[in-house]
Amino acid sequence: MDRRYRKVIIAGNWKMNVNPSEAKKLANALLPCAAVRDTTVVLCVPAIDLTVVKRVLRQSRIAVGGQNCHFEESGAYTGETSAQMLANAGAKYVIIGHSERRTMFGDTDEVVRKKVAAAIRDGLRPIICVGESELQREMGMTEDVIRSQVKSAVYGVSADEFRRVVFAYEPVWAIGTGKTATPEDANEICKLIRACLREKYGARPSRGVSILYGGSMNEKNAPALLAMPHVDGGLVGGASLDPDAFAAIVAATK
Ligand code: PEP
Repeated sequence: MDRRYRKVIIAGNWKMNVNPSEAKKLANALLPCAAVRDTTVVLCVPAIDLTVVKRVLRQSRIAVGGQNCHFEESGAYTGETSAQMLANAGAKYVIIGHSERRTMFGDTDEVVRKKVAAAIRDGLRPIICVGESELQREMGMTEDVIRSQVKSAVYGVSADEFRRVVFAYEPVWAIGTGKTATPEDANEICKLIRACLREKYGARPSRGVSILYGGSMNEKNAPALLAMPHVDGGLVGGASLDPDAFAAIVAATK
């Protein structure tokens, strides 16, 4: 983390867990996470939980976010939620391009690009996920995959809009598997993401973008990952459902 230039963010991704009735309880249990000053905590919750979680957090510095959005503002898109709807329900962030969306729900680079544009248009901060699969890693394709996902996601994002963007390096093989990238590997790829962004936006804006690591982050491995200079926080799945584990990850940013 390098707090001189960028925001440190710990974002929880509840995925398709937690009913609205349980959400109230979990959000209350996570309230103490706001105590770490200078660390931004975000809870990315199922769309149906947004209102109740926002209500619990209304006096707190913890922000809420969505986990996905449609790229259109409104219309005949049964079952979808627009960025505008998320914003209206109190979201400040939205995860875009999570590997579960890319692999299971057909979110191509082109769809990710449109969703990033929609999130920015509707006043949200997109947390853009990029990462290589196990096979791509074994084949030595990691750098190429990251470069192309990064470039495509911000294609069309102006320098001014870029200030709203957050990235997350999430190696697909590390998500929900208990396998974690080594702190050095995570740092190298976060550095590579920053280098790609520098090519497009220049030195100062790329120095200011927060790049998170995600993939089986927990209270044990978080201190070493977060100590890396290019890792500006974490996107946390499983451990975000455990208030003690999540609080320990947030505390590791101190
Ligand atoms: C995620 O869902 O973004 C994630 C990183 O999950 P987990 O922490 O469970 O690997």
